[in-house]
Amino acid sequence: MSLSEIDLHSSLKKYFGFSQFKGLQESVITSILEGKNCFVVMPTGGGKSLCYQLPALMQEGTAIVVSPLIALMKNQVDAIRGVSSEHGIAHVLNSSLTKTEIKQVKSDITSGVTKLLYVAPESLTKDEYVEFLQSVKISFVAVDEAHCISEWGHDFRPEYRNLKSIISRLDDTIPIIGLTATATPKVQEDIIKNLGITDADLFKASFNRPNLFYEVRPKTQNIEADIIRFVKQNSGKSGVIYCLSRKKVEELAQVLQVNGVSAVPYHAGFDTKTRSKYQDMFLMEDVDVVVATIAFGMGIDKPDVRFVIHHDIPKSIESYYQETGRAGRDGGEGHCLAFYSYKDIEKLEKFMSGKPVAEQEIGNALLQEMVAYAETSMSRRKFILHYFGEEFDDVNGDGALMDDNTKNPKDKEEAKDDLVK
Ligand code: ADP
Ligand code: MG
Repeated sequence: MSLSEIDLHSSLKKYFGFSQFKGLQESVITSILEGKNCFVVMPTGGGKSLCYQLPALMQEGTAIVVSPLIALMKNQVDAIRGVSSEHGIAHVLNSSLTKTEIKQVKSDITSGVTKLLYVAPESLTKDEYVEFLQSVKISFVAVDEAHCISEWGHDFRPEYRNLKSIISRLDDTIPIIGLTATATPKVQEDIIKNLGITDADLFKASFNRPNLFYEVRPKTQNIEADIIRFVKQNSGKSGVIYCLSRKKVEELAQVLQVNGVSAVPYHAGFDTKTRSKYQDMFLMEDVDVVVATIAFGMGIDKPDVRFVIHHDIPKSIESYYQETGRAGRDGGEGHCLAFYSYKDIEKLEKFMSGKPVAEQEIGNALLQEMVAYAETSMSRRKFILHYFGEEFDDVNGDGALMDDNTKNPKDKEEAKDDLVK
């Protein structure tokens, strides 16, 4: 190991208590420390935060971290403060701060104590903050959840579009680090172009989840019976069942309960107390199954989820990948079962019909990919990875039999007929 590698490892240990880097972290950090622009694509849970946190802690000046959600920023700031005796080592700058608090943040930055400053993109447009940040040393700007910049991403935020010009106003030479878990080539292009980092060092982790088994079944009148049968065959295992509507979540949870399956419902219509009660019941394994809308999952880390069922097909492959990705986090088996009917696609199309035309076009294109996935006769793993711009070569045969199509090969027409009948 070179001296700098030893430095990196001892800093990793010192600040985070980890003895090894995960995946591409070390190379990303090396590039950041060399002052380069970087673009980092890693699946959720891949450890993107540490890629900018560690070099920020090791460098002079303050790193600005742009993040879309205040809750996420607060979590990260608390975590960073936990590794240091210096409370001011990380701060959030947002509109809810009092005058006194803002003064404290500014003095911590000026005195060099603050290594990480988390901001929402809209705060960065405030002249008062821009002027202040122009006067201090910025080590780099990390744009987390960088897919928010793209209309093709699942969480487009127009404020993200102005980031490049704001950063240039601070100082044109500040390195920019874009990070995202969205792997579609279109979104990536958008990010690189919008952040003006065509020269960036690229770091792209594989999105393959070798331990997940992918299956699509036709959705019939008997869907509830089908789900009950599946869950009972997997009794004692933890699973998540996603439904599109809150109403369906409650109905299905009840049907499961009546049929002797321990299940709780979860959706954003419940108050916070109820939600955390059901969530805890699932996490503590008081119940096997949570029936949920997509409100369930963000930040919930249960490593041994053994199956994810989609009662309704999601609106894009990315959503599907995120949601199925909650299975098998521990590396153990994870069965991803989606029920598909073209009627559901029409329903989703109808939802979109009130939206602006541009949004509808994108929404429909994403939806058609979902249709192609559901109706394909090829390896589903290959399909998903291809969608993310990754070629899946099953050289070792590891992916063999890890989806319904490879396990029971059918020709194209059969695959489709099976699903539309
Ligand atoms: P992402 O933003 O890519 O979804 P996070 O940055 O939230 O991922 O990290 C996911 C988890 O991985 C966190 O719990 C974090 O503490 C852990 N982690 C990150 N780097 C390492 C490492 N080198 N060794 C062990 N755990 C790590
Ligand atoms: Mg993250």
